[in-house]
Amino acid sequence: MKVFLDLGWFFKQEKKSYIVGVFLLLLVALLQLVPPKIIGVIADDINEGTLTFGLLVEWMFVLIAVGLAMYVLRYYWRIMIFGSAVKLSKILRKRLYHHFTNMSPAFYQKSRIGDLMAHATNDLSAIQQTAGSGILTLVDSLSTGGFVIIAMAFTISWKLTLICLIPMPFMALLTSWFGTMLHRSFYKAQEAFSSLNDKTQESIMGIKVIKTFGQEQEDIEDFRKQSEDVVQKNMLVAKIDSLYDPTISIIVGISFFLAIVFGGRYVLNDELTIGQLISFTTYLGLLVWPMLAFGWLFNIVERGRASYDRVSALLRENVEIIDLENALEVVPCGDIEYRLVEFTYPGESRPILKDIYFSLSRGETLGIVGKTGSGKTTLLKLLIREFEGYQGEILFGGKRLADYKLDNLREAVGYVPQDHFLFSADIAQNIAFSNPNATMEQIEQAARLANIHEDILQFTDGYHTIVGERGVSLSGGQKQRISIARALLMNPEVLILDDSLSAVDAKTEEAILSSLKQNREGKTTIITSHRLSAIQHANQILVLEEGRIIERGTHKDLMEADGWYKNMYLHQQLEELVELGGQ
Ligand code: ADP
Repeated sequence: MKVFLDLGWFFKQEKKSYIVGVFLLLLVALLQLVPPKIIGVIADDINEGTLTFGLLVEWMFVLIAVGLAMYVLRYYWRIMIFGSAVKLSKILRKRLYHHFTNMSPAFYQKSRIGDLMAHATNDLSAIQQTAGSGILTLVDSLSTGGFVIIAMAFTISWKLTLICLIPMPFMALLTSWFGTMLHRSFYKAQEAFSSLNDKTQESIMGIKVIKTFGQEQEDIEDFRKQSEDVVQKNMLVAKIDSLYDPTISIIVGISFFLAIVFGGRYVLNDELTIGQLISFTTYLGLLVWPMLAFGWLFNIVERGRASYDRVSALLRENVEIIDLENALEVVPCGDIEYRLVEFTYPGESRPILKDIYFSLSRGETLGIVGKTGSGKTTLLKLLIREFEGYQGEILFGGKRLADYKLDNLREAVGYVPQDHFLFSADIAQNIAFSNPNATMEQIEQAARLANIHEDILQFTDGYHTIVGERGVSLSGGQKQRISIARALLMNPEVLILDDSLSAVDAKTEEAILSSLKQNREGKTTIITSHRLSAIQHANQILVLEEGRIIERGTHKDLMEADGWYKNMYLHQQLEELVELGGQ
């Protein structure tokens, strides 16, 4: 029950609703006692022949009034208690979402997206249930249960009450036990269903590869097995569920059986009137729900406790990259200088970058080349503070990156990654993502610069064409160019193109680069590319190998140096010639 204490902050915040809700719940519990009593009295009156029509009408009005009052009270306690519980999941969801947006890529690297989604959905709903149904079952099972037992024992017969209560604890225990079993098997069935879902999605996405390698039969067999697994696990859920109702019915039946057998004897012995026995059995019926609720309470609380612990642990995870207390509130500009001794990814042992020393004057273009895995992207990610914890320092406008507010730093740097992401919105919205207030003119201007304007006009809805999930309806090159347009619209102090032209042809690349050159006068640009022609006009080129700078200089310097760059350049030129010749 500790989870109720943990949620104390929330109950305090929603004190009014909970107090009113619980009070109404108690009133309902008391009112519930009235109808069985009246029915008993009427039965006795009939038995003794004292019932008149007028009396019956009076009792009828009392019953209707009690019924109406319970109707209204039940409505309001639900609003008070369940309504507040919804607020709790809203508060927690907001906190989680805020926390997620503050976490660094290192966090997303170690957490699985599916798990995070589960925390944000299933766990929150379990906590909401604790604050809603948990409180309801706690108060209701104690109050209704307590009141009914008191009414039975003190106004009818304490002996009969004790006898009929014997099976009740078993009912609470069994409900709790079945609940746990049911939850476990349901969870397993859900898991099996999600993996079937993953499997289906993967097969459909990868159908071409499956067909190319002739793996259809294996894939179908695999699917059949997983599908069978889902059926089996759901059957188990159905079996446990099917056992639950009959078992509970038997226990309730035993209680009623005891009531009739012993109660009947008391009536025959004149210890009870027939009306009292009728009231008693009706009260017994009222006890069933609180006992069931008591059993459920354990499950609800157990689940809520586990979910609350998981969500709290997640919220306690430190935001690794935070603003310094006295961080500057200016958008950085000026020269960039790397004095990086060493950088190792969190949790890794091998350094990825070593001895990276270079400076880049404002307005210059820097080209970074090197084999895949040589550390180019890592070097750039440090500039936007996606990762920290390196030895040495990186200066921007003469100050360390951490001296600026993160928002300001990111405002100054437009980063176009290799793996572009387009949202399910129209093209104009996708381009204007960095600046939602941009005018259509500005959006078109950015699209022209990124050489995508003409393509966009070809689409049926032009700029208002909706881009599907992850932009499926566009070619790789088109997606890349939209991502570039998005960065250009920001018109950032530093533009980083991280291999972001890999899917466009050499000619388009050249066109984009030359329009960039004209438009980014006085602003810094950093380009990494596999195609050396893309960076040959850069003011400075760095060649990376295994995280170190092995060559540096202008294109001319490097061609004279006769190293990796020159070899690669000649190799690529030859390739291009062969390609042209082949056409
Ligand atoms: P490049 O951009 O030159 O292809 P990267 O900077 O992407 O190279 O990668 C350099 C090395 O760092 C690779 O060996 C890669 O496996 C490793 N690496 C990249 N990102 C991470 C990460 N988030 N965590 C651990 N290692 C990483």
